[in-house]
Amino acid sequence: MISVTLRFYGDLNELLFTGCEETPFRRRLPGTTSVKDLIEGCGVPHTEVDLILIDGEPADFTRLIRGGEYVSVYPFFDSMPLPEADRLQQVPSHSRFLADVNLGKLSRYLRMAGFDTAYRNDAGDADLIEQMQEELRVLLTRDRKLLMHKVVDQGYLPRSDDPAEQLLEVMRRFDLFEKVKPFSRCPHCNGVLQEVPKEEIIDRLEPLTKRHFDRFSQCPGCGQVYWAGSHRRRLDPRVRKVLN
Ligand SMILES: [Zn+2]
Repeated sequence: MISVTLRFYGDLNELLFTGCEETPFRRRLPGTTSVKDLIEGCGVPHTEVDLILIDGEPADFTRLIRGGEYVSVYPFFDSMPLPEADRLQQVPSHSRFLADVNLGKLSRYLRMAGFDTAYRNDAGDADLIEQMQEELRVLLTRDRKLLMHKVVDQGYLPRSDDPAEQLLEVMRRFDLFEKVKPFSRCPHCNGVLQEVPKEEIIDRLEPLTKRHFDRFSQCPGCGQVYWAGSHRRRLDPRVRKVLN
């Protein structure tokens, strides 16, 4: 048996399995292990860890733990500049996401904000992993086991149950506030909306819409027609604020 001391910082503490809450804490292991397995064994997926210090020195996930070390584990802090070379998470240059079956509403919000977000309400774990790899998307899921998969390079575990709060979390984590393109994508199918002349779709409009709106867009994927008022009604005020 070997034993190590661990300390988790910030909101990583919320992800720890019970029995690990009081930090720093000691953990006993049957033998040598990678620091990735050590950290994930405490409940924290590697996608949530931006810096590891082993006895004060930066380390990557493959570093072997042999016993006696003091391991400090830090989350992604947008407010704390870390030396770029030591960071384990990069902000991806693209903003393409893939959300699991439980994040339907978050997907709709991300699409409303203009972010390419794939979502299917029947996607299994294997489907998600395959699509993530093929389309190089950031995986969004609250399934820790799925995020712990070694092929998951970019991912995020929304902490909140609330979709509007989840939107804000994802925007902070991936630095998206400057990239918002409100109402440029179809919330139903992720299609990029295109402007359409009023006369082309006038037969499909309700009398009041016909009277009060002149600019329309249409989804090439599902054919849905949108106008300035169509998305905004009954939208959570926090989401509306992001979109404005
Ligand atoms: Zn559509």
